[in-house]
Amino acid sequence: MQFGREIGRFQLVQNKLANMLAQLTAIKLTCFRLNELADEGAMTSPMASMAKMFAARQGRWICSEARDIMGGNGLLLENHVARHLTDMEVVFTYEGTDSMQSLILGRHITGFSAFA
Ligand SMILES: Cc1cc2nc3c(=O)[nH]c(=O)nc-3n(C[C@H](O)[C@H](O)[C@H](O)COP(=O)(O)OP(=O)(O)OC[C@H]3O[C@@H](n4cnc5c(N)ncnc54)[C@H](O)[C@@H]3O)c2cc1C
Repeated sequence: MQFGREIGRFQLVQNKLANMLAQLTAIKLTCFRLNELADEGAMTSPMASMAKMFAARQGRWICSEARDIMGGNGLLLENHVARHLTDMEVVFTYEGTDSMQSLILGRHITGFSAFA
């Protein structure tokens, strides 16, 4: 509630929620397709890097938007949004950092390795 109204009534909040859902759907579809390719034995390392890079970036952004929507309450661990944002920061870095995933993909696209 803010200014006596549910925050879901505000246009900008609805805009954020719509964009968040669109990105979440794109993440799910990417993972779903990658799973299919893995089952077929057709998944490659650059595909996995692209999916991890995309999902971690967008998941981090979604959690950041969710935290923003909740204002100060989004900073309090008891409301869970801050915890999810921290979790996504972890995913952004471990099992391959965002930069390294992009370099693996860049090597696949260009044929040149930009890292050792
Ligand atoms: C909660 C958590 C759990 C973990 N669990 C495990 C686990 O179970 N098993 C395991 O093996 N590891 C685990 N890790 C380690 C994790 O995989 C590494 O932290 C991660 O891969 C990044 O490596 P690093 O910390 O050495 O950072 P660095 O490799 O030092 O990276 C630092 C920065 O430099 C950038 N960078 C590095 N090399 C290059 C380059 N050549 N070109 C451009 N930029 C570059 C990176 O993108 C990053 O931004 C865990 C980490 C965390 C936070």
